[in-house]
Amino acid sequence: MFTLQNLPYDYSALEPYIDTETMQIHHDKHHAGYVKNLNEALTGKEKLLDMDIKDLLQNLSDVPKDIFNKVKNNAGGVANHNLFWQIMSPKDLSGKPSVELEEAIKEAFGSFDTFKEKFSTTASGRFGSGWAWLIVDNGKLEIVDTANQDSPVSERKSPILCLDVWEHAYYLKYKNMRVDYIKAWWNVVNWKGVSDLYDGLR
Ligand code: MN
Repeated sequence: MFTLQNLPYDYSALEPYIDTETMQIHHDKHHAGYVKNLNEALTGKEKLLDMDIKDLLQNLSDVPKDIFNKVKNNAGGVANHNLFWQIMSPKDLSGKPSVELEEAIKEAFGSFDTFKEKFSTTASGRFGSGWAWLIVDNGKLEIVDTANQDSPVSERKSPILCLDVWEHAYYLKYKNMRVDYIKAWWNVVNWKGVSDLYDGLR
């Protein structure tokens, strides 16, 4: 069975950038819903239920056709939100990228500002629901986006930063202004957490 990962901070911890009510609904309803639907879809499929979420996403070809879409969407929803909570933190604890990560970002994108700009543009340009990602692929940093709950993990890439641009992530506070949400979100990126993920891959 898959379980709902707790938020590593209070619902209000990301205020004023991400509001308490959004965090409550996002975690307790949306994220919890993906967990519930995934377990339901996999009822009786003990082998798949025993996998960890990363293994499941990397082995979607083992999932029977009749439940494939439900499993793919909800497994992505579970894993993507697990990472999303982890790579955010209250602003006063958000820290800075490690020297190694900062160097890698400069090498891949020219400068830290260019990286932020490119990531923001990718996130705002994602048509409809989806995610923007900073991934490590063969040791190289790349910015990509995915539709719906698709996860780069399924393509054997290693995400170290992600941004949920589903309307449920920002609509209560920012309405249709996704760009304002993205701009605010940079204040609560947990650079210590992102750096730990990056350093763990090296
Ligand atoms: Mn979400």
